[in-house]
Amino acid sequence: MPDRLPDHVHEKLTQRLTYYEDLGIKFFYRTRAAGGTDAERVEANSYSIPASPIEETLPKAPTPKSPMTPVFPATPRAIATPAPQKIELPKAPEMSLFDIANRIPDDNLLKVREDLGDCTRCKLHRTRHTIVFADGNPKADLIFVGEGPGHDEDMQGLPFVGRAGKLLNQMIEAMGLQRKDVYICNVVKCRPPENRLPERDEIEQCSPFLLRQLDVIAPKVVVCLGACAAQTLLQTNRGISHFRGQWLDFRGHRLMATYHPAYLLRNPAAKSEVWKDLQKVMAVLGLEVKRGKSAEAAKPS
Ligand code: URA
Repeated sequence: MPDRLPDHVHEKLTQRLTYYEDLGIKFFYRTRAAGGTDAERVEANSYSIPASPIEETLPKAPTPKSPMTPVFPATPRAIATPAPQKIELPKAPEMSLFDIANRIPDDNLLKVREDLGDCTRCKLHRTRHTIVFADGNPKADLIFVGEGPGHDEDMQGLPFVGRAGKLLNQMIEAMGLQRKDVYICNVVKCRPPENRLPERDEIEQCSPFLLRQLDVIAPKVVVCLGACAAQTLLQTNRGISHFRGQWLDFRGHRLMATYHPAYLLRNPAAKSEVWKDLQKVMAVLGLEVKRGKSAEAAKPS
């Protein structure tokens, strides 16, 4: 038995597991009759994940109470081992000397908005109704970064004003804040048609404006709502479930990635995870948990 899978198998397996994890599927079951003893299965399911500078202990697989044994899908070797493992968390690259040299002196949000102008840098401009720059407090300690405007946002010119926005408002209020206390923006400033994911070229054209917004505001905490924001800022392809809820470094600022409110609308059970993430943010910002209707709505039911 080789002590690690061939790279191409490892890569495919990681992608598959990440995909399942992003869908919220963590455990897969097969009956014991599927073959092999427990000891054999543990052996078959173990291989070493390359060491990384950041160590994290994955939760142990629960001891099965039924004749079903938890294993993982397809080639179920990556996560099924109960031993502590090391995974690599993404970290945003430091600003390069080039970036620093190209930093706009005395930059401010007005300049950023002016430079964005009536943008035609990517194809999204052809189908947008309004550029959605941002909303909220330009001196905020807390920034929420979403993916891109949807229909309601495109119509109103403001981020997070549709159904997902209402849930975000409730989350903000559950934290004891109001929407006007925080700054809210997106990776791309124009609505992707049919609410599809922003494409790489669109993100490349638009994200410099997001980075300038973040640099100007210099918040204490950046919360990435969903994989698009997190992967863009951290420059990683890793699935969000690998690092959701953990403090990460974004060019010297604290970054927390959590699930997107639109995901919570489809998967309300994940609210409890998001609420835990937001409580960590509250602790850093010195906010106390506030009880109330909106707090209850954002918290697990
Ligand atoms: N989803 C986002 O990511 N951003 C918005 O502004 C609205 C919905």
